[in-house]
Amino acid sequence: MTDIALPESLVQARERLSNALEKAKRPLDSATLLAVSKTKPASMIRQAWQHGQREFGENYLQEALEKQAELADLDDIVWHFIGPLQSNKTRSAAENFAWIHSVDRLKIATRLSQQRPAQLPPLNICLQVNISREPSKSGIMPDEVMSLAKEVASLPNLTLRGLMAIPAPANSLEEQRVPFRALGQLLTDLQAALPNAPIDTLSMGMSDDLEAAVLEGATLVRLGTAIFGARTTR
Ligand SMILES: *Cc1c(COP(=O)(O)O)cnc(C)c1O
Repeated sequence: MTDIALPESLVQARERLSNALEKAKRPLDSATLLAVSKTKPASMIRQAWQHGQREFGENYLQEALEKQAELADLDDIVWHFIGPLQSNKTRSAAENFAWIHSVDRLKIATRLSQQRPAQLPPLNICLQVNISREPSKSGIMPDEVMSLAKEVASLPNLTLRGLMAIPAPANSLEEQRVPFRALGQLLTDLQAALPNAPIDTLSMGMSDDLEAAVLEGATLVRLGTAIFGARTTR
């Protein structure tokens, strides 16, 4: 990627998203930029916040909790958990995030619902789908989406918002679009099957495939490298 740094990198990421939306003939406010800050220090998150970024994504619970403590004064920050979630870590996830993008088991969803503090609004949930059907990758298979979605939508302290995926890498825009299109179709099917659920979120597109995701209807793109630079750890 480029070697530009904050805040220019954030400005460029916003322009990149706007350009992609324009090319897709979509309203410029129809997708949200999620800044993926895993492995990056709290000081960089604060800098992005000072330049107007509010939604941040983290992958590792312990690391996220430490940064959240340092940034506790930023009261309008919105934290998204996007990494693999083990069932023994659900409590702090339920207590400290507004969104979880990586739900792939009923057991995890049930625990999140039970452990969501009563004084907080319902926890926003995306089901992670293994859209490229890669062996030993996170996420449910596409044909499991409907049954898990129905169960998650019925849990009291959760709001099922949509689907998330990390497709296998591909070499061209057209190839990148194929799995994103499939995820979009799954979302359309879900919306039809659960008309009373506020399902509106396609969490897809990262630094290498944002344009393809936006062409296929992404409503929330998750950019790490493009905003914070290359990661050296993990
Ligand atoms: C790391 C990560 C991202 C960001 O990836 P980049 O290629 O750095 O933009 C997005 N989504 C998930 C789930 C991630 O783990």
